[in-house]
Amino acid sequence: MADHRLASPRGFQPVGVNPVSKWSEPIEIEGITLFQLHAPPHLPSASSASTSVSTRTLTELKCPVCLGYIKKSAVVRECLHRFCTDCISKCLRVGIKECPSCRVHIASKRSLRADPAFDTIISGILGDVESVERSEEKEVEDANRIKNMNNGLAQNTMLGIQQQMQQRKKGGNVGPRK
Ligand SMILES: [Zn+2]
Ligand SMILES: [Zn+2]
Repeated sequence: MADHRLASPRGFQPVGVNPVSKWSEPIEIEGITLFQLHAPPHLPSASSASTSVSTRTLTELKCPVCLGYIKKSAVVRECLHRFCTDCISKCLRVGIKECPSCRVHIASKRSLRADPAFDTIISGILGDVESVERSEEKEVEDANRIKNMNNGLAQNTMLGIQQQMQQRKKGGNVGPRK
């Protein structure tokens, strides 16, 4: 009579009680239950998905007034839009008594409430907001510098080509002279 235990499809060692599951089951790796062995691995979320979420989140962390990251957030009670305390206070001070995002009426500073929890989230995500903004400014500067360099290069190339064409028209030899 064939031994069923040895006929297990994946070649398990048919050893009795699993010390983890306390079940009598075939054990392939000691200390791992069959469930753990056969559970699908937890795959990391696709990188594209996480990027789009983070970009969106970062936009939501920005103040529509100063376009920087929100510092010391203030929430308009009426519409729950969020700004830097300084930015929205300045608006009210100069007589703009409406939400810069949706233009809902803001009666007074009392319509604003601070949101320390949000500030904590921002600093949790970005760390030191000011240093993040400085590094972003630097990135823009660098990008502009490279763009300008490329423009300069393109201009020089055009100039060179034009000079060569003029030389040729004159019948001059562009190549090195002997
Ligand atoms: Zn602001
Ligand atoms: Zn609003």
